[in-house]
Amino acid sequence: MPTMTEKLSKLYELQLLDNEIIENLRRVRILQKEESPIQKKHKMLTARLEKHNKEQEPIKKDIEMLDAENVKHLEDRKDCEEKLFSPESSSDPKMLQALQVKREQIGKLMKKHEDEKIMKQIELDNIETKKRDIIAQLEEIQEEFENITREREEEKKTLTTRIDELKKERMKFKNFEDKKLLALYQRLQKENDGVAIASVDDYVCDGCFVEVSAATIERLKYNDEIVKCQRCGRILYLPGNDEKG
Ligand SMILES: [Zn+2]
Repeated sequence: MPTMTEKLSKLYELQLLDNEIIENLRRVRILQKEESPIQKKHKMLTARLEKHNKEQEPIKKDIEMLDAENVKHLEDRKDCEEKLFSPESSSDPKMLQALQVKREQIGKLMKKHEDEKIMKQIELDNIETKKRDIIAQLEEIQEEFENITREREEEKKTLTTRIDELKKERMKFKNFEDKKLLALYQRLQKENDGVAIASVDDYVCDGCFVEVSAATIERLKYNDEIVKCQRCGRILYLPGNDEKG
């Protein structure tokens, strides 16, 4: 039968693994959730660029529509002019006047569309200027952004690999014989931010940094029992106690 000190020494080893796993998981979560300032800036600029692209879409469509309409008007006008000036055209003055009026109307409409198109083009150019400014800002941070993103990806990969290793190492504690002690360890671990077992270092509990009494040390040294810190309630462990026997 292993002594309490031997069992605690094993659990203490387990706790080191657990704490490293917890610490690594915490860092992975931060890497996943929190972006670096440069990543945030990149995201913000990309979103703004996307917004401007979307703003431009309907304006471009309007311009296309105006162009298409003017192509049609141009044809109508040509048609009108052919009728007006062809040698075979009717010499009826009323008819000729009507054609003239129609020609003028088409001309006015075309001019109106051209003006509208210019206004739309100005709008489009204004947005284009904003976009160019954003693109320049993106280019400025591009290299740093790529480096940071790559570094963070690499760090995440390293951490994940390490977590897998630690979990494998943890498997050897699967057959820990004292199930009651293991259950207590796991409960205290949850209650105490991952630290269930506190080693006593120079008469001080390293869980709460409060001095433990000489009587407690005596119990740790000579009694084969679970001794808890009176202040923080963690299981106390005296390193090297098993060697002294
Ligand atoms: Zn304590």
